[in-house]
Amino acid sequence: MKKTRQPFDPGHFKVGVLALQGSFREHLAVLKRIGVEVVEIRLPEQIQDLDGIIIPGGESTTIGKLAVDFDLLNPLREFGGKKAIWGTCAGAIMLSKDAHRNQPLLGLMDITVDRNAFGRQIASFETELDIPALDIISSAPSSFPGIFIRAPLITAVEGEAEILANLPDGRIVAARQGHLLATAFHPELTDDDRVHRYFLHLIQEKRAS
Ligand code: GLN
Repeated sequence: MKKTRQPFDPGHFKVGVLALQGSFREHLAVLKRIGVEVVEIRLPEQIQDLDGIIIPGGESTTIGKLAVDFDLLNPLREFGGKKAIWGTCAGAIMLSKDAHRNQPLLGLMDITVDRNAFGRQIASFETELDIPALDIISSAPSSFPGIFIRAPLITAVEGEAEILANLPDGRIVAARQGHLLATAFHPELTDDDRVHRYFLHLIQEKRAS
């Protein structure tokens, strides 16, 4: 059965963006544009009263190391056990349980990732993605502009996790596990705010559960 579209007021959400390294400013800009109250997270006490958290793209080894240094790893893990977290690119790596390397991860999602799966910076690319889950956000469903920058691939989606988007050749680039969301691409670098709105939808769903 198709879920019904639920209107919601972005002004009722307070979302934090982990601001240690990477493209956090771009996420903050999209959230502000759609009317969400935002917080830049650098300290554990800044995550207490948030409705959701975004972990941006960047360098997952650096983000992980800084999260350890700033005592944020466990508070983020605890937050993710109760509330919504969305990781883009390096953020998706942080959410995964396994990145085939020895680096700090949150391990909240039952997904495995392959870092830099498309090669070096020069191998960055853009492609249109079909993301059926976004139908719940927009009355005019259309493909989503996927921007991949030294992106990971999601190589295994297990347990409660489910696939949200594939490349045309079938490789997995987005997954969801309840209120946790991982995208290998960068919606914050586009004018299309549907994935940000979808994240608010996950927050709302979690609140209602
Ligand atoms: N290559 C980075 C990593 O492995 C991710 C790149 C990105 O976030 N755009 O952590």
